[in-house]
Amino acid sequence: MAVNSGISIKGVKQKNQSLILKLIATHPGMSRIDLAKATHLTKMTVSNIVSDLIAHNIIQEDETFCSAPQPSNGRTPTPLKLSSKAPKAIGVLIKRGLLQIILGDLAGNVLDSITVRPSTPLDAPELLFIILNGIDTLRSRNSVQLLGIGISSIGPLDVQRGMILNPPNFYDIHDYPIVDAVHQHTQLPTFLINDGNAGALSEKMYGIGKSIPNFLYVYIKHGIGSGLVLHGELYNGDRGQSGELGHSTINFAGPQCPCGNIGCLEMYANITNVRNFIRQQLSLYPDSHIQDPSVLSLVDIIDLANQNDSLAVSALNEYCNYLSHGILNVLNTLDISCVIMDYESNTPGTILEDLILRKIQPRIGPERFHSLQILRSQFRGHAPLIGSLALIADNVFHETLDIFA
Ligand SMILES: [Zn+2]
Repeated sequence: MAVNSGISIKGVKQKNQSLILKLIATHPGMSRIDLAKATHLTKMTVSNIVSDLIAHNIIQEDETFCSAPQPSNGRTPTPLKLSSKAPKAIGVLIKRGLLQIILGDLAGNVLDSITVRPSTPLDAPELLFIILNGIDTLRSRNSVQLLGIGISSIGPLDVQRGMILNPPNFYDIHDYPIVDAVHQHTQLPTFLINDGNAGALSEKMYGIGKSIPNFLYVYIKHGIGSGLVLHGELYNGDRGQSGELGHSTINFAGPQCPCGNIGCLEMYANITNVRNFIRQQLSLYPDSHIQDPSVLSLVDIIDLANQNDSLAVSALNEYCNYLSHGILNVLNTLDISCVIMDYESNTPGTILEDLILRKIQPRIGPERFHSLQILRSQFRGHAPLIGSLALIADNVFHETLDIFA
């Protein structure tokens, strides 16, 4: 893992420093010995880098973390963690009807937050006002050094140009240079990421995807968002638009989608269709607790299915018939075997994941039958928000942002 060729000695030191910082931020509790093992750097090199990071108040020793003594010399290795004095990041999540502005650290911990649910339609200046007001409030409430601002937004976006392009049903806001507007006011480095990609990045850096080199992240709310991690890195595509799973064709003879494509997955796997299915089947399931499907969200239906409501299970099964087509196409195209499903529910249970697994497993071929994993995210729907912090952390770990500046 360590870097030791092709660049200057100073460059090597910086790369190794970034690597050590990333491991400490994303794997709390690692000791100097653990770091040496993980990076293949000498104990002396690790020790020097750790001392430097401690001296700059970026990391600290964590005496409270429980760690087993080393059998060789009986000494207990000291776990390391980010320092409470380390620079922080601002994260912004932009969704339909929801704006969240958070302050957090490079380990993805949220330290302060502001949530705004606009009750009336916004124009671009009003959207910007809410975001800037939130950032200013967090800055005034917390006297901390800031590395930058990560914006996780519904797409489509042009990430390179920092623009929100033309999200459907999004207050008629389009072609808006959000990154320039936020940077102009704050003078902080500002980055933009598609919310699906932000979710995938969270999973890779802080979630169950940490040890999985290749996976598809799927976020379910009103639509179907997604992101891809390939070879341990977020796959961005040409413009940061990768992983538009909801707009992949599952029926070539299907209707035209507002996105311009034909027979998109979201035209079939959507809440309107699920509600219609429930209405048609309602009389066949007298034991179901569902009375009025029009008030149910997709997550409500997943929750009811996890509580064994037979009509909810049947409706979710129908939804998964479509969703599994889209997922299977990605798995087959990229030869990957892991999917992480994310949705805003704290109800225990994995019926959604189990249904998708059961539908895909027989169709994926014997060589990947046993390795196929459909996992449930531990972020419970918040990976796209945490991804706004992960975006800043990722830029620090890739040295686009200097934590010593
Ligand atoms: Zn579409």
